[in-house]
Amino acid sequence: MSEQRQTKRDYYEVLGVPRDADLGQIKKAYRRLARQLHPDVNSNDPECEEKFKEATEAYEVLCDPEKRRLYDAYGHEGLRRGAGGAGGFGFDDFPGFGDLFESLFNSAFGGSPFGTTFTTARAEGPARGDDLAVELELTLEEAALGVDKEVVFTAHGVCPKCEGLGTPTMDSIKTCPDCSGRGRVRVVRRTMLGQFIQTGVCERCDGQGIVIGKPCPHCQGEGRLLMERKLTVHIPAGIDSGQRIRVSGKGGAGQRRAQSGDLYVRIRVAPHEHFERRGDDLYSQVDLTMCQAALGAVLTVPTLDGEAEVEFSPGTQPGETKILRGKGVPRLNGHGRGDHYLSVRVLIPRDLDENQRNLLREFDESCGLEHYQARSEGVLHRLRTFFTG
Ligand SMILES: [Zn+2]
Ligand SMILES: [Zn+2]
Repeated sequence: MSEQRQTKRDYYEVLGVPRDADLGQIKKAYRRLARQLHPDVNSNDPECEEKFKEATEAYEVLCDPEKRRLYDAYGHEGLRRGAGGAGGFGFDDFPGFGDLFESLFNSAFGGSPFGTTFTTARAEGPARGDDLAVELELTLEEAALGVDKEVVFTAHGVCPKCEGLGTPTMDSIKTCPDCSGRGRVRVVRRTMLGQFIQTGVCERCDGQGIVIGKPCPHCQGEGRLLMERKLTVHIPAGIDSGQRIRVSGKGGAGQRRAQSGDLYVRIRVAPHEHFERRGDDLYSQVDLTMCQAALGAVLTVPTLDGEAEVEFSPGTQPGETKILRGKGVPRLNGHGRGDHYLSVRVLIPRDLDENQRNLLREFDESCGLEHYQARSEGVLHRLRTFFTG
């Protein structure tokens, strides 16, 4: 065996990025280090050169999703396994190798049904986590104005005992002896129709190229467990029933540190005691007594922003609509708000005593029908302003 550097530093540490760093962070960190350590800048400084190599190696692994997954799951061991040791197959070059094999066989024997047929099956890595959907009920205000909400759900989470490795000790992770780490095995079958060469997923390691000698007893080597999970989800202002929010990577945990699934939060908005929402607009009713409608009034009405005083002019009619511009629901895209429509109901007294009835009779006699008619100009004006805003 060739060089073995046991004291390799953690790649994340080398680049100074967190374990969940995205590609952008990794690239940025590497660029920064490369500027500091580049041999052209630090000529004749062997330490810098060594560090530069180390950073480059870390960068090459962490910016390659497959290599990073292996590294996350099995550390440096995970990468060395395939990195060209005696008889080893890199996880990188193996698919190419397989294709080459396939085309060689196909050109040599292909075409005839009585020749050699070559079939392949894809090697499987540890399973990715499940995508999950949860429903979240919000009040109208929460949906309209935005909120941070905790959702609780049952899903696979990373095993806390082995931290997702599937084994308590790194030493028990070994290259699969059946497939020598390839994840695939080749089987030759002779049948009446001819010779078939098949490559299939290695059964012993389930295509993963490694076997775990001592599985974690807590998760049976899965690296994940079903558990109650909690997550605070940011709900943007303006969201509505039926819409969903995707929280990337927060679904079920993958098998042995494989990629997690996504969490989809589906929104349901509970009915509101005052408001009805249609798109970005709000609708509510406001009650004026007969006398308030006739005399005009200033009423306190609930709005999304709390109570507001709204003026109703004398002669306000039942069914009239007052529009509170820009008092509706904030638009999900962040640009402006809808309107709030107040629809007027006029309350007629139902239970009057003799004295009150007399007052009304007296009033009625003094008040001819012409007092109830809108001035024609007024009606037209109102119609115009209603339709043109
Ligand atoms: Zn475990
Ligand atoms: Zn195997």
